[in-house]
Amino acid sequence: MQLNFIDNDHHASFSGRILPVIDPSDGQPFDDIQRSDARDIDAAVHAARAAFDGPWGRLAAAERGRLLMALSRLVAEHADELAALEQRDCGKPTAQARADAAALARYFEFYAGACDKLHGETIPYQSGYSVFTWREPHGVTGHIVPWNYPMQIFGRSVGGALAAGNACVVKPAEDACLSLIRVAQLAAEAGFPPGAVNVVTGYGHEVGDALARHPGIDHISFTGSPKVGTLIQQVAAERHCPVTLELGGKSPQIIFADADLDAALPVVINAIVQNAGQTCSAGSRVLIERSIYDAVLERLGHAFTHLRVGPAAMDLNLGPLIRQSQQQRVWDFLSDAQAAHIPVVAQGVVVDEAPESGFYQAPVLLADVPVDHRLAQEEVFGPVLAAMPFESEDHAVQLANATRFGLVAGVWTQDGARQFRMARRVKAGQVFINNYGAGGGVELPFGGYKSSGYGREKGFEALHGFTVLKTVAVHHG
Ligand code: NAD
Repeated sequence: MQLNFIDNDHHASFSGRILPVIDPSDGQPFDDIQRSDARDIDAAVHAARAAFDGPWGRLAAAERGRLLMALSRLVAEHADELAALEQRDCGKPTAQARADAAALARYFEFYAGACDKLHGETIPYQSGYSVFTWREPHGVTGHIVPWNYPMQIFGRSVGGALAAGNACVVKPAEDACLSLIRVAQLAAEAGFPPGAVNVVTGYGHEVGDALARHPGIDHISFTGSPKVGTLIQQVAAERHCPVTLELGGKSPQIIFADADLDAALPVVINAIVQNAGQTCSAGSRVLIERSIYDAVLERLGHAFTHLRVGPAAMDLNLGPLIRQSQQQRVWDFLSDAQAAHIPVVAQGVVVDEAPESGFYQAPVLLADVPVDHRLAQEEVFGPVLAAMPFESEDHAVQLANATRFGLVAGVWTQDGARQFRMARRVKAGQVFINNYGAGGGVELPFGGYKSSGYGREKGFEALHGFTVLKTVAVHHG
């Protein structure tokens, strides 16, 4: 049985209610978490406020950095344990779960080093004045985390908030809490004072909603679906609480005829296969220049038929999807594709060892997807790659920008001038030229254009979002 972690201690929920934790690899419950409500959030916010007004808030920036570094080391020491927790909880293949634990340690390491490098400016002003700015923490920050990359998103969001001096209340997704409860315990072991890091579990519409509404929350960092992002924004607007929204994507991989296909195609495949396509920045559309369209589809199709899906512990190309409703969501998209006569080029294989009760989905490559079809417009959040041809650079830009999203884009071309033109013209928070994702990019600011959200996490830039800028003007004559 898992408990909430508030004020550096374990607490059952006030309601006494619990929720089962399901293993996506076999669909069976294996643990329980607390089904918390507004009372638990209230306790966590009070603990965080006391920390912010007390020992945590008084720490020098360099001391915060030392604590984050100690946490980074503890996470690295417990990486196998954390990876195993997230593997069972989320159905991640071993390599992915380990990569996520390593990324968590790296986020804390990065933000440990950033703590005492964040400073304001002096501003030349009228004679007789001295003017300068301070970057102050918001106070108590709320973090609503999705289930697809709990450790990574905790690392980038809570890591940045702590570095800036905030005290944090975290609401993990109800499907993926185990690793984050453990990380909060490790934070206590690392020496974070009580109340600096709190984790409260439960349903989004109950405890997530309570967090977003709580008057003691000074900033909300939400990562999740556009639909819930809208709700958070509405709730936060009532009390003018600042919000960072990291929402979904329908990210294009754009392959020009002069691309190095040997370099591009494995990356294009990985970008939709990783975490079974349940990645906000999944490269879920592949736009291919007409002259190489058939040849590229053939090569991609050949690779897709060799992709294997199975229980997380088998460490294959893909594990299961997170839950049955997610599997059903992918099936609905695929049956819409069938009804629209969208051709299936190839699909991967679910291995015989995969239990029937697990939530498996073979990766699917679809060709000639019309730009206005929902498969070209909406996030499937599963291993489905939509291919479409383009005729020219202008057409590629038009297709790339033809969704409501703008999170990430990949451009594959050896033409240097075109690389820059494309990077300028594609509306996405990150554009990768002849690579995709840059191997994680803890240091690289990340966030959306359009319905992919606003504000930036990751990198140094995130610290600006986790602080308030105060201008001080001194009139000394
Ligand atoms: P979701 O929006 O359903 O849930 C996200 C979080 O919000 C969960 O913790 C959930 O419990 C909580 N929540 C749900 N309803 C709530 C409410 N009414 N009030 C407050 N909180 C509530 O998203 P999901 O299904 O967990 O995650 C998948 C989505 O997240 C996808 O759209 C994906 O693209 C997006 N995502 C974006 C990024 C990014 O950085 N841009 C990263 C990962 C995931």
